[in-house]
Amino acid sequence: MRTRPTNRRRRVDQIARRAAYDAYLTSGGWRARRHAWYAAWLTSHGTPPQCLVCDRVWCPRSGHLHHLTYIRIGREDDDDLVPLCARDHRQLHRVLARSAGWRHLSRRQASLGIIALLRRRGASQRDAS
Ligand SMILES: [Zn+2]
Ligand SMILES: [Zn+2]
Repeated sequence: MRTRPTNRRRRVDQIARRAAYDAYLTSGGWRARRHAWYAAWLTSHGTPPQCLVCDRVWCPRSGHLHHLTYIRIGREDDDDLVPLCARDHRQLHRVLARSAGWRHLSRRQASLGIIALLRRRGASQRDAS
């Protein structure tokens, strides 16, 4: 498939950004940020964080943090990040990537909307079983 140079340029930028982001997520900086986020949560809430979808208790070792925005990568505010278990984090990204409707919203709004949707879906599945 032929792409115009401007599109190719944009695609290269996207790939470079993605690579930098992936590198960040495996860095000591991100590990430290997760621990700092966890400590801040404990201080302000007094209870451990839970997955926003299924309420499973979140811990820094196995829990995931989803970015509600990418504008402060590397220097995130505490509320740029939301706690999810690995399974629900995967589900959230699957829905976010698949449905065009969510992309009209900001990443923050779309993420919170999908989390609410997954939460309702999980609740109805629990009621049915
Ligand atoms: Zn969960
Ligand atoms: Zn995420």
